[in-house]
Amino acid sequence: MKNYGFTTLAVNGPFENKDAFGAAAQPVYLSTTYAQPATDRPGEYAYSRGGNPTRADLEACLAALEGGRAAFAFASGMAAISTVFNLFNSGDHIVINNNVYGGTFRYAAELFAGRGLSASFIDDFNSLDFDSLPKYVKGIFIETPSNPLLKITDIRRTAEEAHKRGMLVIVDNTFMTSYLQRPLELGADIVLYSATKYYGGHSDILAGLVTANDAAICEKLKLLQNTTGNALSPFDCALMRRSIKTLALRMERHETNAKLLIEFLLRHKNVKKIFHPSTAGRDERRIHAAQSKGDGAVFSMILRDGIDIEKFAASLRLFQLAVSLGSVESLICRPASMTHESYTPEMRERAGITDSLLRVAVGIEDADDLIGDFDRALSLAEA
Ligand SMILES: *Cc1c(COP(=O)(O)O)cnc(C)c1O
Repeated sequence: MKNYGFTTLAVNGPFENKDAFGAAAQPVYLSTTYAQPATDRPGEYAYSRGGNPTRADLEACLAALEGGRAAFAFASGMAAISTVFNLFNSGDHIVINNNVYGGTFRYAAELFAGRGLSASFIDDFNSLDFDSLPKYVKGIFIETPSNPLLKITDIRRTAEEAHKRGMLVIVDNTFMTSYLQRPLELGADIVLYSATKYYGGHSDILAGLVTANDAAICEKLKLLQNTTGNALSPFDCALMRRSIKTLALRMERHETNAKLLIEFLLRHKNVKKIFHPSTAGRDERRIHAAQSKGDGAVFSMILRDGIDIEKFAASLRLFQLAVSLGSVESLICRPASMTHESYTPEMRERAGITDSLLRVAVGIEDADDLIGDFDRALSLAEA
């Protein structure tokens, strides 16, 4: 299995998992209960919350793609994130990068205190002196590139420093996917996804995925999935499994389109700044290049002063004004009011999420059409 490339595994899955009838596409096992061989002899599956063949197939495929020991599929990215936060105990502190998914921030801000957890938000892990962190820090939660400013965190350094102090390192790898970045191989303990985004890729499945290497962590995640009852439904698992087959093809097209669009925008007089791994500072670019295979297709931008962003967004025909990302269709949103509204105004200011910032998720349409759409809207917004 190790010898096969990413897309071969994404299409075929782990080879020991073949369907008994040779079905080329994964069958959907809707049954919630399974007949057992005997009262004292459990079968492979008993009850769908604890385990389901369609879900197991998806989870095995993800584990193979990530190089994880096991993977777990959840009803949403936030279900995956809350399950991972459930690994922590009262008194634990988690350090999170300060531009992180709005829902992750909301969870920490609204639910941590009641569970006896606490969090702090840090701008830059790369220059962080880990000795300055208190002893009760038990976890590090990062997104790299971050959301929405695409800042880069050195996963390897963070994991090394954190592990010296017994901290668990969690990476939300939603923007990259395992096709572009594999944090477990860089030392992270847990990698999680909103699979609603690139893994699903078509804006029609809400899902979350988690993978890990350590046997004890995997066991605990399995217990939590079964006990909290937040697993992904069989039908959604089958749709997700189908989506993963084209993940590499889609990512390549997303990336090519993003690269061409960004090249165009960097030359445009109405664009002030682009935030993307390809336009980051030298140190960040070097770190990102060492830990990933590409720059991804999400970027943020600030238009020149005097350009009306409402008019700009309304003039676009191919970029829908909508939250989310990672789908075949192109989307644009204003993070301050659409995805990061759970941040306090001070947090937004500290994290650099200004009212003029727009986030773009580039789809797989024809690049010329996307560029033409931006060109037209940038001119109309000038008037
Ligand atoms: C969307 C998103 C989430 C939340 O996932 P849902 O599937 O919407 O629950 C978490 N992290 C990142 C980076 C996201 O973009």
